[in-house]
Amino acid sequence: MTDSERRKALETIAAEVRACTNCRLHATRTRAVPGEGDPQTEVVFVGEGPGFNEDREGRPFIGRAGDLLVRLLASIGWRREDVFITNVVKCRPPENRDPQPDEIAACAPYLRRQLEVLDPAVVVTLGRFSMGTFMPGARISQAHGTVRPVDPATGARAALVFAMYHPAAALRTPAIERESYADIAAVPTALIDSRQRRATSAVPVAPAT
Ligand code: URA
Ligand code: SF4
Repeated sequence: MTDSERRKALETIAAEVRACTNCRLHATRTRAVPGEGDPQTEVVFVGEGPGFNEDREGRPFIGRAGDLLVRLLASIGWRREDVFITNVVKCRPPENRDPQPDEIAACAPYLRRQLEVLDPAVVVTLGRFSMGTFMPGARISQAHGTVRPVDPATGARAALVFAMYHPAAALRTPAIERESYADIAAVPTALIDSRQRRATSAVPVAPAT
């Protein structure tokens, strides 16, 4: 896909998200938050759901958790506009409660379609609800800082998933903040590993004619 085809496909999904009424969260949202970033990125960060500020602005990770995410990215020399940032639910749960299983399921097709368009090499999950989509059954205390191949059914056809704590948890607990800096330091290596896998795995070769 060319850059402009990707942009168009992502904008089509975003427009559907902004008009979506597929779960109860539509009733209490101010603005839906489809996600944003570089359409050509190799790395997608997936959080939980919009909070107060995100709901007002329609953009992901722009409050205090977002500021920490930007600092974590800066610690490996990356900027938020170089990656793509989205969430498992695109509308804010009231009072920032946990997203419920039926809400995550209702919203999942949007994330799947975003991943089909972006075809990332690495998906970084932020928190346990996002991890649950890409590392079913994992426990965050064990899985943070680790990588696994992603099930292509998620939409990411040839990616590794890298699990991290949610930045909001890091804001509450200094030990988790320190672990988050240690974890994100391993993401560039996961990216190099994933590029290698993508380059050497079953790429269909055009038959000789
Ligand atoms: N927390 C999230 O999980 N996502 C956001 O977009 C903002 C805060
Ligand atoms: Fe639609 Fe997802 Fe918002 Fe629910 S959370 S209304 S499924 S966009």
